[in-house]
Amino acid sequence: MSKNVAIDGPSGAGKSSIARQAAQAIGFIYVDTGALYRSIAYFVKMSNSDPSDINAIAHLLEKAKIELKFIDGEQRVLLNGDDVSDAIRTPEISMMASRISALPIVREFLFDLQRQIARDNDVIMDGRDIGTVVLPSADVKIFLTASAEIRAKRRHLELTHKGHDVPYQDVLDDIKQRDYDDENREIAPLKRAEDAILVDTTSINFDDSVKLIISTIENNL
Ligand code: C5P
Repeated sequence: MSKNVAIDGPSGAGKSSIARQAAQAIGFIYVDTGALYRSIAYFVKMSNSDPSDINAIAHLLEKAKIELKFIDGEQRVLLNGDDVSDAIRTPEISMMASRISALPIVREFLFDLQRQIARDNDVIMDGRDIGTVVLPSADVKIFLTASAEIRAKRRHLELTHKGHDVPYQDVLDDIKQRDYDDENREIAPLKRAEDAILVDTTSINFDDSVKLIISTIENNL
């Protein structure tokens, strides 16, 4: 039986960078489920579809083939055969992903893919509803969070390093908006599973956060 670790939490809590390193340390595959929602968002944008038109989205999903590949432990996401892993990392796609992830048809579309990967592999899977909906019987569940301000600060730094010239206040506003949307949507809202271990990285640096997550997993597997 494969071992599953679920890590949920709000945008910018460092889930992906922390989970990636932790997965490497314990020999698990790291699965970033946000990339799946982002790929659908990217498809919506590229095809100029209206995200509020359910029929258009349903039609689009019929044409969408999403695959995850793992190259040297790095996840790549393919949309209809094209590697979109880098193109999906823009603020515009972040907002669109948050928007379309509230649609039940989109969540259902991605549900089986996520379950199947977890069934076939030892995974650390990160997202918003992994411990609550996708893998409710995961061996370890973690809810990873940090204050909105520190998350915005870290995201702003990351964007600046990548050459995106975005004001800090815009990043903070985006994060707060996405928190609100993720926590208040009707389907699979972001919330801590009752049996999830809370890890708050507001005042812990990256390396210590990774160590904390690894020890939390090892102590609970
Ligand atoms: O984690 P990331 O920021 O890449 O996720 C993009 C968007 O996808 C989030 O704002 C969230 O709304 C959505 N998402 C989700 N469920 C997941 C992972 C991501 O609804 N399991």
